Amino acid sequence: MRIALIGLNPSKNLYPIGLLKIGAMLKDKGHKCQLMYKIPKPNEYDQIWLSTVFTFNIPKYISYVREAKKRGYNDIMVGGVAATLLSEIFEKENVEVHKGLLPEAENYHPDYSLLEKTPDYSITHTSRGCVRKCPFCMVPIVEPKYEKRINWKDDIHRDSKKILFYDNNFLADKTEGIKEEIEKIKDVLRNTNNNSVDFNQALDCRLLTEKKADLLAQIPMRPVRFAFDGMQEDGYYQKAVKMMAERGYKTFVSYVLYNFEDTPQDFYYRLRESARLSDELNINVTSFPMRYQPILDYDKGRHYTGEHWTSKQKKGFMNILNKQSIGGQISQSLEMFEYWFTNNADRFAKLISWDKVNEYAARKKGALRFQKLQMGKICQEKVIKR
Ligand code: SF4
Repeated sequence: MRIALIGLNPSKNLYPIGLLKIGAMLKDKGHKCQLMYKIPKPNEYDQIWLSTVFTFNIPKYISYVREAKKRGYNDIMVGGVAATLLSEIFEKENVEVHKGLLPEAENYHPDYSLLEKTPDYSITHTSRGCVRKCPFCMVPIVEPKYEKRINWKDDIHRDSKKILFYDNNFLADKTEGIKEEIEKIKDVLRNTNNNSVDFNQALDCRLLTEKKADLLAQIPMRPVRFAFDGMQEDGYYQKAVKMMAERGYKTFVSYVLYNFEDTPQDFYYRLRESARLSDELNINVTSFPMRYQPILDYDKGRHYTGEHWTSKQKKGFMNILNKQSIGGQISQSLEMFEYWFTNNADRFAKLISWDKVNEYAARKKGALRFQKLQMGKICQEKVIKR
């Protein structure tokens, strides 16, 4: 059969790992597969496999399904996170829906040749599932069982530059288990062209011990990622960042959940802690604010507002966020953090619900630009005088 594998990841730079494994499985069975990002013209394929990610993107996925049907494709298989969490929406479209992981495909290694270029990075999991059941997370539903994967080394492309570990919770293993994995990672790095490692889904700061930090310190991690999802991680998060900074790591990323059970004040505190640690430890911690969306609800317009938030505050925060950086992240010294977000949690909560927050953010941005221009002029004048 001729099979179209349609990846609907938010960006083409994010390789659809599930489809790369499914492609390997289907090719092994004698089918011809091609990876693509749009619906093929009529009659080019016999079957379509479509992978989904975010539930708020369901309208887009449904439009793909309908378009495929319009073009005469009736043999359509839909899988992935959104299809697992809200399968009934897809079932109404009369397509076959696969929930959870596809165990047979899990036994295959990603077929990177489907990308039609040498991959920039390899993707693998040393484990699936997670030992925790955080109420805001879809992992306990999509991958309910925590289990180790023995032969993950074969997932690595020898000519990629970097290895992305998609483990949900790499540190959930015992110290002995982590020691074994680190040895395997070192071995892969020695024998391939990959030269750095990224635990892309973040490490669980509550499970980091001095011994585990010593083991991690044996591999080139860039960046070191943790999550500061709520006040349950307060103390653990700062300690974990310190532990890795003491071992020489300089670049950190922090995922910061908000609009869940948190308050704007504790969200401010969690963001500010990263700016404070950046200064104190002479490192760079970039915070990625992640707005909570209900995982089992189909919130088309992403309107959900957490119990302690207002929709005005959500918008107000986004307003400042987008003015102070391009990519929606916060990577600043404490002084700059307070320049944008104030020096006080209550003031922050008031600021983001202020009617004129948009003007405030624009003014701040303008003032900063003006200051930079002035600085540039002064430097230029100094150069000319010399
Ligand atoms: S620790 Fe992380 S992966 Fe595990 S359930 Fe919590 S949020 Fe999900």
